Amino acid sequence: MVAEAADDPVFTLSCGPVEIYPAVARALAKPVHYHYDPAFLAVYQGVHEKAQKALRTRTMPVILQGEPVLGLEAAAASLIAPGDVVLNLASGVYGKLFAFWAARYAREVIELDVPFNEAIRPEQVEAAFRARPDIRVVSVVHHDTPSATVNPLKEIGAIVAAHGAYMLVDAVSSFGGMDVDPDATRSDLFITGPNKCLGGSPGLTILAVSERAWDKMKANPAAPRASFLSILDWENAWRADQGYPFTPSVAEINGLDAALDLYLAEGPEKVWARHDLTARAFRAGVKAMGLHLWAASEAIASPTATAVRVPEGVSDAALRSAIRQRYGVMISSGMRETAGKLVRLGHMGVTAKPLYAVVGLTALGGAFRAIGHEVDLGAGTEAAMAVIDAAL
Ligand SMILES: *Cc1c(COP(=O)(O)O)cnc(C)c1O
Repeated sequence: MVAEAADDPVFTLSCGPVEIYPAVARALAKPVHYHYDPAFLAVYQGVHEKAQKALRTRTMPVILQGEPVLGLEAAAASLIAPGDVVLNLASGVYGKLFAFWAARYAREVIELDVPFNEAIRPEQVEAAFRARPDIRVVSVVHHDTPSATVNPLKEIGAIVAAHGAYMLVDAVSSFGGMDVDPDATRSDLFITGPNKCLGGSPGLTILAVSERAWDKMKANPAAPRASFLSILDWENAWRADQGYPFTPSVAEINGLDAALDLYLAEGPEKVWARHDLTARAFRAGVKAMGLHLWAASEAIASPTATAVRVPEGVSDAALRSAIRQRYGVMISSGMRETAGKLVRLGHMGVTAKPLYAVVGLTALGGAFRAIGHEVDLGAGTEAAMAVIDAAL
């Protein structure tokens, strides 16, 4: 069956892939140079240097040629050695999914789950180490996007480091939208990408690797080499005088280069502040409309996406269809365990501007009404505007 043609969305308030910055779109459309052309070699080394600056990390990051799921799988395959015991922290769908890869490479995977509207508590991690001092690797999702909740990464990282273990972090949908970086959180492998808060397109993984993670991966005989999944193969590829393992995605590299230029020129603190303000406006509006946030507490609600509980008896599919068809607004559904229970409005990159909260809330309220669920639309927009105006 051929899908029905639809008009382009008017607003994309998704949780990734997201709307991209116009400058990124222009960069993606640049001439695609030969990968050993001196002009591209300079861009390629430069994009790594910019990523290092953005990540505030001591080591040179690695860029892998596929959207961040490649980085997650490569990280599991490279860092986890066959004898390792892994503690997988799962506060949401991505956390749960990581255990699938971890189990493929580890001797044993211990799971620490919390309800998917809550966050991992540091004392739970401490208790897990007391019960199993042989834990070697801890895997954690910083912002578990299908729940729009954030884990206390710095506190968890301190515990992992104190026990001499390695921390593998999925920061795909938090990096660039809030104050998080690999060194300050003591992350050993820190995986992110252009296609969430940096406002780029889905096609690359950005990976920060600590010195000790390099050592561990090199000592792991099972770590992929001469493979699409390899991290090790790319260690020196950033240098203009070194070869690539295979052809990098030239257009995607150009796009990432532009996204990093925007991020660094605006200033990370400013970028994080507009994500935070947009999130606060969203949350105030959701509550004032008479709806409920998915997160058990606002303290763990993400600054880069807002998850709204779908009330009992309301169909999330009908709601999403109404908001897209009536107003041209594209939002995200839940995934797996959270599917049907919530809808998510992303405010990442381009749409992390406070007035997008008003757009999202208005369209969401209109869609709820259209499917027969009354909300106080006026109170919602007033509450969002009050948050925005208080910050001006
Ligand atoms: C988006 C995202 C990824 C990348 O996965 P895709 O669903 O394929 O885009 C990984 N982890 C998290 C937390 C994400 O939000």
